[in-house]
Amino acid sequence: MSQYKRILLKLSGESLMGGKQYGIDEKRLSEYAAQIKDVAGLGVQIGIVIGGGNIFRGLSGTSKGFDRVKGDQMGMLATVINSLALSSALHSVGVKSNVLTAIRMEPVGEFYNKWRAIELLEQGHVVILSAGTGNPFFTTDTGSSLRGIEIEADVMLKGTRVDGVYTADPEKDPTATKFDEITFDEIYARGLKVMDLTATTMCKENNLPVIVFDMDTVGNLKKVMEGEKIGTLVHN
Ligand code: UDP
Repeated sequence: MSQYKRILLKLSGESLMGGKQYGIDEKRLSEYAAQIKDVAGLGVQIGIVIGGGNIFRGLSGTSKGFDRVKGDQMGMLATVINSLALSSALHSVGVKSNVLTAIRMEPVGEFYNKWRAIELLEQGHVVILSAGTGNPFFTTDTGSSLRGIEIEADVMLKGTRVDGVYTADPEKDPTATKFDEITFDEIYARGLKVMDLTATTMCKENNLPVIVFDMDTVGNLKKVMEGEKIGTLVHN
């Protein structure tokens, strides 16, 4: 049984690289598709936002002479590439999915609107919400908080390669300890980098809880759905 009826799952573009230096690792992609299929089988309505960091990030482009707005547009297009790849992987395991885009680009995907997204979710389709917010100077974390609030998700699941929120970066500080749960206010007070501040504030102000968990371990998504406390719950 799932604890949640409708979720917004955020997948990082960087994780899609798997063992590679750039682009999409087919093994990681098919593992994600299999995990999503498992959870769809529980009857959960699934909206997905996927990042683009495995292909292009606007901010890193500026140091190489790219205009920030054009760089961010490139980053948003990168999220569309990843979304199409995920949709294709879902199709190959028999899961119906639709890519909606925050920037008009039919026939690549339908132009996003909240009601269409909910209609598709209610029909049992996985809905992949691509191109972030459609605006530069934002991230896909902010895109997922926005879409999670819009589609009235019960929770936002932030899949990362770390298994939750720690007192410090566990990859740098071996003494760091993990929180089972933490409030948004404590995230600010401790200066923790769970998501960017815009995304954190969106979730806080609209009361959308976030679960940070390790999506790269196969089976974890289902465990979170079934209420196992394997990540960190962030709430008001
Ligand atoms: N981006 C943007 N507006 C948005 C979402 C994303 O401009 O609403 C751009 C931005 O340049 C960002 C890139 O798309 O660096 C890829 O997204 P992100 O860095 O969030 O991907 P992730 O870190 O999750 O792989």
